[in-house]
Amino acid sequence: MKYASVAVELPINKLFQYSIPAGFQSQIAIGKRVIVPFGQRKIAGYVVGFAEKPEVADVKPIESVPDVFPCFDAGMLRLTQWLSEYYFCPWGEVMKAALPACMRKIPKKPRRTIDSGREETYQRSKPFRLNAEQKQALTLLNKSIEEGKSRVFLLHGITASGKTEIYLQAIVNTLNKGKQAIVLVPEISLTPQARERFEARFGEETALLHSHLTDSQRRQTWERIKSGKANIVIGPRSAIFAPVRDLGLIIVDEEHENSYKQMESPRYHLREVAIKRGELSEAPVLLASATPSLESYYNAQRGEYSLMTLTKRIDDRVLPGVEIVDMRDERSHIFSHYLKQELEKRLERKEQVILFLNRRGFSSFSLCRQCGYVVRCKRCSVSLTYHAGSGNFLCHYCNYEEKPRKICPRCQGGYMRRLGVGTQQVEKEIRKLFPSARVERMDSDTTAARDSHMRIFGAFKRGEIDILLGTQMIAKGLDFPGVTLVGVISADTTLSFPDFRASERTFQLLTQVAGRTGRGALPGKVIIQTHSPEHYAVLAAKKHDYEGFYKEELEFRRQLLYPPFSHLVLLTIAGPKEDVVELSARSVSDAANEVSQGKGIEILGPAPAPLLRIRGKYRWQVILKGEKVTCLHQALASLLEELENRHKMRGVKVIVDVDPAAML
Ligand SMILES: [Zn+2]
Ligand SMILES: [Zn+2]
Repeated sequence: MKYASVAVELPINKLFQYSIPAGFQSQIAIGKRVIVPFGQRKIAGYVVGFAEKPEVADVKPIESVPDVFPCFDAGMLRLTQWLSEYYFCPWGEVMKAALPACMRKIPKKPRRTIDSGREETYQRSKPFRLNAEQKQALTLLNKSIEEGKSRVFLLHGITASGKTEIYLQAIVNTLNKGKQAIVLVPEISLTPQARERFEARFGEETALLHSHLTDSQRRQTWERIKSGKANIVIGPRSAIFAPVRDLGLIIVDEEHENSYKQMESPRYHLREVAIKRGELSEAPVLLASATPSLESYYNAQRGEYSLMTLTKRIDDRVLPGVEIVDMRDERSHIFSHYLKQELEKRLERKEQVILFLNRRGFSSFSLCRQCGYVVRCKRCSVSLTYHAGSGNFLCHYCNYEEKPRKICPRCQGGYMRRLGVGTQQVEKEIRKLFPSARVERMDSDTTAARDSHMRIFGAFKRGEIDILLGTQMIAKGLDFPGVTLVGVISADTTLSFPDFRASERTFQLLTQVAGRTGRGALPGKVIIQTHSPEHYAVLAAKKHDYEGFYKEELEFRRQLLYPPFSHLVLLTIAGPKEDVVELSARSVSDAANEVSQGKGIEILGPAPAPLLRIRGKYRWQVILKGEKVTCLHQALASLLEELENRHKMRGVKVIVDVDPAAML
């Protein structure tokens, strides 16, 4: 072999050829990292192919080969290539993202496999007895593990229905086959509780990958997986790239989770990557959730995924009662009379309370305090957001704009308000109403410090906190037997989120939050405050009725041709100068219209993003919507090629997001 094709770690969507000096012939292999000259620089890249003849005249030689072993095997190479093509991200950048930073440091000497020599001993836990539903699900899954076939399962199990025990027993089966398993969990769910359950069952065979590992811990863990010492990998999103040798099972816990979408390049969705990796490794993939994403449930309904259902809580515990408080009748918009009363009772009885509020003061939508009407775009059905510049409300999908209303178009009352309550405001109110209660607020402001989550959760678990107030951070997978009341301060904040998935997010959050109570011996109660008590997402959450919600929401998606009936591509045009950004966005939109003619693609926008300015950059958006993802991919490829030649696009960046999870 004389020449190597190299995917370089740069945002360039192209492979480069380098010659292989005689001295490196024996060291070069597919998937190996190489250091190559690039212009005046030396950069890293990965060997993805070979050739006998040069493709261009002036081929430079490979500079050095830093590692002993390849970074990627053939399977991972195919996976990263697919990711690169599907999400329009250069292959080299995908590979860079698939390796932990500590593994990419160039060692002074070639690195050998490290033996971590972990010698902790574990008291192994025994499997629990499964109920009939759990057994049925496990049998189906085991069959697929036995056969070593790629197949996608969707496990729809209500909160506290014993999904984890199914994971554990399926993993045992995988290990018995001599294979390995990857378990993906949202970062926030990697609580000591969850870790303990896996470690208690599998001991030192477990490898945990999470963001609080030090570089050397992470490297050791990575090496333990690579060498086959650890057979069960547990971690957030990026753990899907773990170098397991013989993959036998992938589990995606809380598969509906928004955090599975990577918000920076490569903007992949973990669920899709997991399914692809399962397909390439001929391993079954188990997606699980109490509130499956609409896309996954739709795929299960169509028979693309195999659906398994758990309808009972373990030990036959009952689901908490959910009560809705109509805030249109209340004087205070933070605490209804009823919530306040129930809170007082809990404090007297020394029971714990979780108060939930979705976001931190992102005050932007227009709501009628009298009838609950929210101003939305007639065409896109997303709520209109307030823009301080113009003082108007506008649709950030299609740029429809209107002046603030004084009179409500539904009830003709004069009570239109820009609504938005932040967690800080609620905290102040609690301290005023219940001065002796021990209150802790948990949102991204209070948990910036490392391990602050664990500190707050620990204190709450030990009963040192009476009221825990927080954002969606506290909604997930936590298990606090002492909590008997969960209060949702305002369901309206999620319901009016300027995104077509607002109802789905609301239903998921309310269901997950409700699942945080009634997990111990004491029965739990949930109180949801809202100006839209008749909304189907709220009503379905009250009745714990996933099916009912799914049907209504699916119909809405069908009518407006939103996913799962279409795919979206979000183009964000960002730059430091507002007028340049706007002009460029118009140019992108024009070009998008040209290239997508006759391809069944609709172009929405350009429109300013709801968060118009982030870190000094102005942002406008253009949305491509189409039923077939292949057509979208084609149009996108032509569009990006066209944009490269456009003079107007100087000074701005176009960010491509295929299948965006949120459009802010
Ligand atoms: Zn009204
Ligand atoms: Zn619109």
